[in-house]
Order: sequence, then structure tokens, then C-alpha cells
Amino acid sequence: MGLREGAVEALVERRGFGMSRLPHVVVLGGGPAGCGAAYQLRRTGKATVTLLERQNVVGGVAGSFEWGGQWLDYGSHRLHHTVDPRILEDIKQLLGDDFGDFDRHGRIRLRGEWLHFPIKSLDLLRRLDKGFALGMVRDLVMRKLRRPAEGETFASVLLANLGPTMCHHFYFPYSRKLWGKEPELLSGIQARKRVTAGSFGKLIKRLLKPVGGGKYYYMREGYGQISRAYANAAVAAGADLALGWGATKITRSTEPGYTWTITAEHGTERRTIHADHIWTTIPITLLAKISDPAPPAAVQAAMQQITYRAMVLVYVQLPVDQYTTTDAHYFPEGNVRVTRLSEPKNYFRSTSPKGTTILCAEYPCTVGDEIWSASDEALADMVARDTATAAIPLPAKPIAVHVRRLPQAYPIYQMGYEKPLATLDAWAGSQPNMLVYGRQGLFAHDNTHHALFMAYSAVECLTPGGFDQQKWAGFREIFKSHVVED
Ligand SMILES: Cc1cc2nc3c(=O)[nH]c(=O)nc-3n(C[C@H](O)[C@H](O)[C@H](O)COP(=O)(O)OP(=O)(O)OC[C@H]3O[C@@H](n4cnc5c(N)ncnc54)[C@H](O)[C@@H]3O)c2cc1C
Repeated sequence: MGLREGAVEALVERRGFGMSRLPHVVVLGGGPAGCGAAYQLRRTGKATVTLLERQNVVGGVAGSFEWGGQWLDYGSHRLHHTVDPRILEDIKQLLGDDFGDFDRHGRIRLRGEWLHFPIKSLDLLRRLDKGFALGMVRDLVMRKLRRPAEGETFASVLLANLGPTMCHHFYFPYSRKLWGKEPELLSGIQARKRVTAGSFGKLIKRLLKPVGGGKYYYMREGYGQISRAYANAAVAAGADLALGWGATKITRSTEPGYTWTITAEHGTERRTIHADHIWTTIPITLLAKISDPAPPAAVQAAMQQITYRAMVLVYVQLPVDQYTTTDAHYFPEGNVRVTRLSEPKNYFRSTSPKGTTILCAEYPCTVGDEIWSASDEALADMVARDTATAAIPLPAKPIAVHVRRLPQAYPIYQMGYEKPLATLDAWAGSQPNMLVYGRQGLFAHDNTHHALFMAYSAVECLTPGGFDQQKWAGFREIFKSHVVED
């Protein structure tokens, strides 16, 4: 879809005739945060909207694509039951019969055993060896007698709350794989954001009653159907959706009455768009990079200290109807490199296509390292090796392999990351009529329902008198309490 010819000029023209007009919001990024905002802005009639998305499809990391006769996601994605009820109702309305509610069939490989995931009541103690069970009980008793100080690192926060047994066997090896860092080098904030069972109390509660009741929502045409539905509804309500148009420059507008002028590029084509407000969900580091004039030296220095974990997604097509009945297998331990293996067909309990199924293996890595640069064949071999090590060997040689690479899959909260992030955030916050939100904008470890909640919250803050910064500050406090679910 192109940037609608004349849309920009029409706005300028109307302004030239002195007609009162709605504010024009240019939304950068068509992931859930961008699509959700575009729809809400049009639906409430608060603004005219141009949504710029660099890719040819919406959805961002939460998007989907077709390959091998199936819809596939960028790694295992599901909508969690903790979604805000208002947002859930909208998604249900938008998706109709394509929306379903399912029981989770996940499992986790620990110490040579498979446990249900999310971990079910006392499975952990019953199924694992006595050494592990005794260790957990000992940790619980020791913690009652003398609770260690939480400290500031991922390692110290989890040790204080969960004890050494869970940490050394589960969370620490997993975090090394996921973020590529020793747990002592990661911030305690990462532990609080990422680990749903952040304390012994919560862990025990979760053992007895898994978060979300072990259920999830999913869509017939892949997880990206959520963003596609929002984007379609936004367009139907009058938004301009420009797919394949990446923002390459943001500058203060010289056009009378506008605050910003955005340059967008699509191949060799280039256009400019004038905006009253920019709402940006693109990585905050990229935002700083494409701003003209360039931000102050301190902000540029801060950009260098914000780092992301990349991910290679390896899709292997097998000549069988179904590999297992499990939707996602989790591998926290260091004996295999894969962190999660999903079978997309199982998410909507789909039986088509007949005769084949696809697995998606997630390999966190660093851009340019040996995983990132490996050939498709080498990556498929890695999947075959890892599944064999985990005692779920591939039933046959893959008939096809497809690889996707995400350079910015997870924010890495290294010790001390808060300072450079605060510098970037303060710079963005000082720009007039600029709103930074979404996973990449706020460098937030979040779920899709959190990104949508941010979008809905932003629209609530837009009033005829301008953007209500105080209300937004209140919402930012709420966002801090979001805990990511797997
Ligand atoms: C492996 C993995 C598994 C996950 N599983 C789940 C799950 O099960 N459930 C769940 O709820 N969440 C899950 N998430 C999180 C979920 O994907 C994110 O919360 C969600 O995608 C965030 O949406 P967003 O719109 O904020 O950002 P993004 O999805 O990152 O969207 C940002 C968009 O900006 C675009 N963009 C970038 N630069 C430009 C530019 N210059 N101009 C225009 N556009 C640009 C990008 O192309 C992208 O489309 C998972 C994430 C990962 C990495």
C-alpha cells in the first residue's frame, strides 16, 4: 500500500483556506502499538492519521507471514489472558470467528525430564529428582530463617527471592542463553520484568494456579492477524496506511501551523509529510539517529549504551501431519542452544495443511555472531542436533528450511542501562508534540497486550487542548508494573 497521493497536500490546502481541522498524527511503526493507536485515533475522531511502516506488512515482531502453506509467527506468540478487558473486547469484535481460546500445551525440559509449562501444581517437586526437590525445600527454609538482601543485579534479586536451586538450574542458564550475559551483569529490573514468579510466595502460588489459568487466545491466520485487523479497521475509519515506507528523517516543520516534517522513503521514492504530532514506536535509538538536527552529544553517547539481543528463527518443514501435540517446548538449560521450539499448527489446533507441519526454533544471538551468520543448512542441522539431545528427534529430514533474523528481539537491561535510557527518554520528552511508546520506543520488555494498552492510553491523553502530559506520566507509572509472560 502506498502513501496516498494528495493526502498531504489536501491537508495543507484545507489549512490554507483557514478551515479548522483535526490535528494530524503521524504514527511511526505498524506493530501492535502503531496499529492500535491508528485505529483508536480514527475511531474516536480525535485526529487524522498517517501510519508509516517500513515493512510491506503490519505487525512488527508480533506479525505473521505465510510459508509452506501455513501462517507463521516470529517465534512463539500468543495473546495472554491478562489482556485489558476493553482491548480483549475490541480484538474479539475485530476477529470474529477467527479468534479462539485454548488450553496451553507447553512443556519445559529440566534435568532430563519434561514438565508441563507453565509449571503445574507441584509437578516441579514431584517429577524432578530428589536432589532438586530437597534443594527447593532447603532454600525455602533458609529464606524463612534469614532472607538475603535483594541487591541490584538479576542474579542477586532472583537468589534472594527464589533461592539457589531454581536460579542455578533454571533461571541463570536460561538468562545466559536469552540475553548472552552472565546474570551478575544484568540489572535486577530485568528479573522483576521478565520473571513472572518473582518470589517464593508467587512461585508457590503459580505452582498451584498457573498465570492465566494455563489458557491463551489465538487467531486463525497467525498472531499477526491482530495487527492486520487493527490496521484494516484504522484504514476503514480513514487512516492513511503507508506500507513499505520507512521514516528516514524527522525535522521541525517550516510549513506554517505544523510541528514536524517527516521524510519517508520507499525504495528510491521519497516524500515528506507534515504533522502536528509524531507518535513513534520505532527503536528509540533509531529515532535519535534520524532526527535532524542530530541530538546533543550526551544523547548520542547514550544511544551507544543501549543494546538489544538479536534472534534467528529457523523454520523447518517436516513431511508429517504433526510433530507432537505440544505447542511450545522450552529449553532453559545450556546443553542445547535453542531456547524455544514451537509447532505453529498446534496453536489454533489446525489440521491443515495435510502431510506437513512446520517447527519454529528460536536462537537468541548477537548480530554478526556465528548463529546470526550461519547458513540455512547449518541452522537446520542445529535444530536436528538440539531436538535429538532433548530426546525429541525430528521424525524425518526437513523437506524445506526458512530463516528469519530479528536484529532487535529483546532489550538487554545491562547493569546501569537506566542512565543512558533516561537520557534518551528525557531528550525525546523535551521535543514538542512527540510521543515515544511501544516496546522499542520505551525499551520495554513487554507483551502485545501491553503495547496495545500503551496505544489506547496515548489516545486517551490526546485532548482538544493538546496532549495531556500529566495523564501520560500517570500511565507511564502503570507501564512500569507490566510483567512479561512467556
Ligand atoms: C520471540 C518473541 C516472542 C514473543 N512472544 C509473545 C507472546 O507470546 N505474547 C505477547 O503478547 N507478546 C510476545 N512478544 C512481544 C511482542 O512481539 C511485542 O510486545 C510487540 O511486538 C510490541 O509491539 P510494538 O508495536 O511496540 O513494537 P514492534 O512489533 O517492534 O513494532 C515496531 C514497528 O516499527 C517498524 N519500524 C522500525 N523502524 C521504522 C521506520 N524507520 N519507519 C517506519 N517503521 C519502522 C518496524 O518494522 C515494526 O513493524 C514476543 C516477542 C518476541 C521477540
